[in-house]
Amino acid sequence: MELLEMTWPQVAALDKNTPIVLPIAALEQHGRHMPLFTDSLLLGEVVRRARESLKDRVVFAPLFWLGNSHHHLDFPGTLSASPRVYLDVLIDLAENCMTHGFRRIVLLNGHGGNIVPGSQAMFELRQKHRERGDVLLLSATYWSLGSQPNQVVPGIAQGQMGHACEWETSMMLRIAPQLVREHEKTQPVPFGKGFSPATRAWITKDRTEPGHIGDPRPASAEKGEALFRLFAADVVKLLERVLAWDGKEWDA
Ligand SMILES: [Zn+2]
Repeated sequence: MELLEMTWPQVAALDKNTPIVLPIAALEQHGRHMPLFTDSLLLGEVVRRARESLKDRVVFAPLFWLGNSHHHLDFPGTLSASPRVYLDVLIDLAENCMTHGFRRIVLLNGHGGNIVPGSQAMFELRQKHRERGDVLLLSATYWSLGSQPNQVVPGIAQGQMGHACEWETSMMLRIAPQLVREHEKTQPVPFGKGFSPATRAWITKDRTEPGHIGDPRPASAEKGEALFRLFAADVVKLLERVLAWDGKEWDA
């Protein structure tokens, strides 16, 4: 179901154990070869595929494109909510759902910069409604739900999500090739090792001049199709678990 097509009496009449998904993404630079709306377009496609399988068992809110992308602000065109503002907006979105009676609420994320605020928002909301024993508040990022594409798709070299990388460029080639510009001539940018085991604070220009991280050259629409299939299946699997939740156990 799509929230944006429903009337308020239809929402009021829903079984409130129906999971509601809030897709969250971004509008930020994706190197010289990919469009600013990359994360939103890719998550939109993952959601579209997942929605087709789940039909009327899950409600999907419209994708919220404004993300936490302040680390990309040195690159023109990026639009971003600052981290604290973003945190409050996510809490409001999820809390609105609670106000309407929903108990199973999932932030479904498609942008690296939203991972920390997404988890924090749900964590804070849980503390705020600590008297409630019947809510399941989750945040999840579509490429971190289990699939290891490089282990199952022939030809995929990359082992983790980068930025405007082999994976993202492949998926964009699958859905909107007219928006990809000469990725074959784009030089790779190494992922780097950060300051592991510590977590280094960074801005994007610390890591990359062109804006991408990874190697977009081997991207292809065929790889993109395989990635979408894996990621959409992962999302469906997660939402099946949310549907099957018995109200108590972690792994019902
Ligand atoms: Zn991206």
